[in-house]
Amino acid sequence: MTTPLRRAFVSASAIRRNVETLRALAPATDTMIVVKANGYGHGAINVARAALVGGATWLGVADIVEALELRSAGITAPVLAWLHAPDEDFGEAVARDIALGASTPDQLNRIAAVGGASVHLKVDSGLGRNGVGPDRREELFDLAARLHHDGRLTIDGVMSHVAGTSRASDLAQAEEFVAAIGELAERGVNPVHQHMAASAAAILHPSLRFTMVRFGIAAYGLNASDDVVDVSRELTPAMRFEASVVNVKSLRAGDGVSYNHLWRAEKPTSVALVSAGYADGVPRAATGRAEVAINGVRFPVVGRVAMDQIVVDVGSAPVREGDVAVLWGDPADGVPSANDWADWANTIPYDIVTHVGSRVVAVDVP
Ligand SMILES: *Cc1c(COP(=O)(O)O)cnc(C)c1O
Repeated sequence: MTTPLRRAFVSASAIRRNVETLRALAPATDTMIVVKANGYGHGAINVARAALVGGATWLGVADIVEALELRSAGITAPVLAWLHAPDEDFGEAVARDIALGASTPDQLNRIAAVGGASVHLKVDSGLGRNGVGPDRREELFDLAARLHHDGRLTIDGVMSHVAGTSRASDLAQAEEFVAAIGELAERGVNPVHQHMAASAAAILHPSLRFTMVRFGIAAYGLNASDDVVDVSRELTPAMRFEASVVNVKSLRAGDGVSYNHLWRAEKPTSVALVSAGYADGVPRAATGRAEVAINGVRFPVVGRVAMDQIVVDVGSAPVREGDVAVLWGDPADGVPSANDWADWANTIPYDIVTHVGSRVVAVDVP
């Protein structure tokens, strides 16, 4: 059987252990693991299963389509979806027991029309994005309380999301969130679930954990921000991205490599052609900075990252056609990590793993 040119191995045991580590590190009554965007490119279903074994009590996704995929795979754990289309049909989500984030009166009315929904009210405590702003909170909370007391839906949760600008701004957001919880209590609504912290805030600020923390990137073993690098070292990157050495050739001094000849050999050397490029998620922006590991040795990627290929300067090392190039994986194995690729591409690791392309063959590792 032909070896696929590009492979993404995803370790379920790494996910499970990361979730266990995070639960010990940032304890809360509930631990949600966020599996939106196909589990940050790792495969939502397998990640969800591994996370539940590791002790996750909730799963989070952006949209209802993602939530229904979990249900269709037979996953019965609590699931929350928080981003909805303007004309979203909430019927199937409610029928399949998906809890719904809601931030507008229109959403609440349309969810109430279905009957029997579990709702988490979304409060903008300062991120400036998708929750209800302070100016419309009274209107939304009045309506939510009425629908809740009339039994048309249940306000099971209140949630917010943190900007991560500074410690002071995160704590100010928590104060705003507490104020919102108080305004709901004044209306006789006391949501069981109160949550605002994603990976970075959950790790950094115990006071932001409330009843539930929502881990995305940290569960995948990657770095949520520069402030949590030390903690990230206790986690294991769950994805190893490999491609094949498909050609090795000699260059003379002065020979140029790849488009625009951004790189030229200074002295005679050998280069290996590796079968993954920007269409597979190798960031083009990492041109001139990245490294890969072949046979346990790190080599520089030289010249422009192309759509299907990268070129690696292997010097006089005994690299052969058919050898495996590891682009990113667990740094404990001596290979680069997705965190490194994020630095090389001037982005964040989220942007690396969520862009693994559709040609990459996923391989689930227990
Ligand atoms: C994506 C997301 C998360 C997870 O964020 P991480 O930084 O990956 O932990 C949590 N909550 C909400 C609302 C999100 O959109």
